[in-house]
Amino acid sequence: MDESSPPKRKKRSDLLTKFKNNRENASESIMTFPFNKKRVRLLSELNDVKDCKGILYWMFRDIRVQDNWALLFAQRTALKNNVPLHICFCIMPSFLYASIRYYKFLLKGLMKVEEECKNLNINFHLLNGEPNMSILKFVKVHRMGAVIADFNPLRLPMSWINDLQKDLPEYIPFCQVDAHNIVPCWIASSKQEYAARTIRSKINTKLEEFLTEFPPVIKHPHKIKSKIEGNNWEKALQNISVDMSVDEITWAKPGYEYGVKALENFLQNGIKKYTTERNDPLANALSNLSPWFHFGMISVQRCILEITEYKKIHPKSVESFMEEAIIRRELSDNFCFYNKKYDLIEGAYPWAIETLDKHRKDKRKYLYSLDQLENSETHDDLWNACQNQMVMIGKMHGFLRMYWAKKILEWTESPESALQWAIYLNNKYSIDGCDPNGYVGCMWSICGIHDQGWSERQIFGKIRYMNYEGCKRKFDVKEFILKWGKKKNEL
Ligand SMILES: Cc1cc2nc3c(=O)[nH]c(=O)nc-3n(C[C@H](O)[C@H](O)[C@H](O)COP(=O)(O)OP(=O)(O)OC[C@H]3O[C@@H](n4cnc5c(N)ncnc54)[C@H](O)[C@@H]3O)c2cc1C
Repeated sequence: MDESSPPKRKKRSDLLTKFKNNRENASESIMTFPFNKKRVRLLSELNDVKDCKGILYWMFRDIRVQDNWALLFAQRTALKNNVPLHICFCIMPSFLYASIRYYKFLLKGLMKVEEECKNLNINFHLLNGEPNMSILKFVKVHRMGAVIADFNPLRLPMSWINDLQKDLPEYIPFCQVDAHNIVPCWIASSKQEYAARTIRSKINTKLEEFLTEFPPVIKHPHKIKSKIEGNNWEKALQNISVDMSVDEITWAKPGYEYGVKALENFLQNGIKKYTTERNDPLANALSNLSPWFHFGMISVQRCILEITEYKKIHPKSVESFMEEAIIRRELSDNFCFYNKKYDLIEGAYPWAIETLDKHRKDKRKYLYSLDQLENSETHDDLWNACQNQMVMIGKMHGFLRMYWAKKILEWTESPESALQWAIYLNNKYSIDGCDPNGYVGCMWSICGIHDQGWSERQIFGKIRYMNYEGCKRKFDVKEFILKWGKKKNEL
């Protein structure tokens, strides 16, 4: 079959049923499964669990129960020690520049995790306040024997981990499991990689070892003896102090089930055109999986295992998707993990810093304030439409995200402001924002991270340039503006 032949059509719920059946008939159990310890980063001196009342999985990036290496490792540790299993998620009043749109998606996804946990005898706790302090208190009050945490390379979550590492009593084992990447970030490479071409073979040669099937998380046999206070979702919502003006999105719904449905939709409708039409914002060729990937509501590894079944019918599309979802995505984590200045111009390569500096004083034909940008008030109808799309539905098309960020560089007083504003707007409105991919996307567009130098021009220096005419060659710009040119209240 060639790229245009559709795969056999499945009913909408087929994949959910398939995954459920696979778990029920899994050949490996959580205890017999050879867990690859390279997925675990030990942060404490000791790893022997002492007498305790439970094991804690500290969830903060991967909001799902099944197909989650961190939860699997926590359950295995709890089973070995014959104790109950707990999950804590700590809601902070604010997170980077996220708005209420982001928080509602997060909270609703967490409610679903709580529900799933109830059926599996796993105790899910919603905590408030500074995560490291709240976790420390929980560990002490409820006598947890070990803490297994998610991995997120961004500065703030890394600081929670570092703080807890300092404060946790020495006898409590503490580790991180990278449940987000297929090849754990610290295994993929031990240094900051220069570009996709330098990390690609490092990841690809490890896929055989890491791109494996998951054993299922099982109904936990050990229950807690004394009751722990229930979760107060209302209070959690009230404690949030973020921009409340950004509407919830409706096209994507939080939770694992909707993530699976999005995957199914992509396999039925998008994958056949992924390789040829993914740069056309009107083609609906992308997976749109980024909201669920960002919140870890569906495992990228699960999606890749499924998508590779389409290798024979859509070889090029599967290859392109793997490049984006594995190589590019894991490269973003690599950059944020190893570069402490991942959100600053100083974090760019010397050639890029130099070229931006040289063109710092170049005359800008248009200069906009953050307010004007945020309100889509530029002279460029395509840019305004991109901004509207992000504000209205919380997701700008991937190709246009590059154009959008590059124009911010062109119309802003300094590269520093451009970068800061692009990150701010992206985190505030994008449902998949506050993600290493977002920081790297802005760094790529504005200061050439993972890119190369191009011929020199005004303002951009050697940073790759994009323009309106180029967009016209890629897709029907008029049509896009017709669709997204008007703000919501004008629609
Ligand atoms: C300025 C700018 C800002 C961006 N902000 C974000 C962001 O906040 N969150 C985010 O997840 N991505 C971001 N990206 C990367 C990319 O545009 C999105 O991942 C993609 O558009 C998400 O849509 P999709 O899931 O339909 O993509 P698909 O093309 O279907 O890709 C599937 C998955 O692969 C990964 N992926 C795709 N493209 C890239 C890429 N260029 N770099 C890294 N991973 C990639 C994502 O996890 C994505 O969900 C940004 C890119 C730029 C240039």
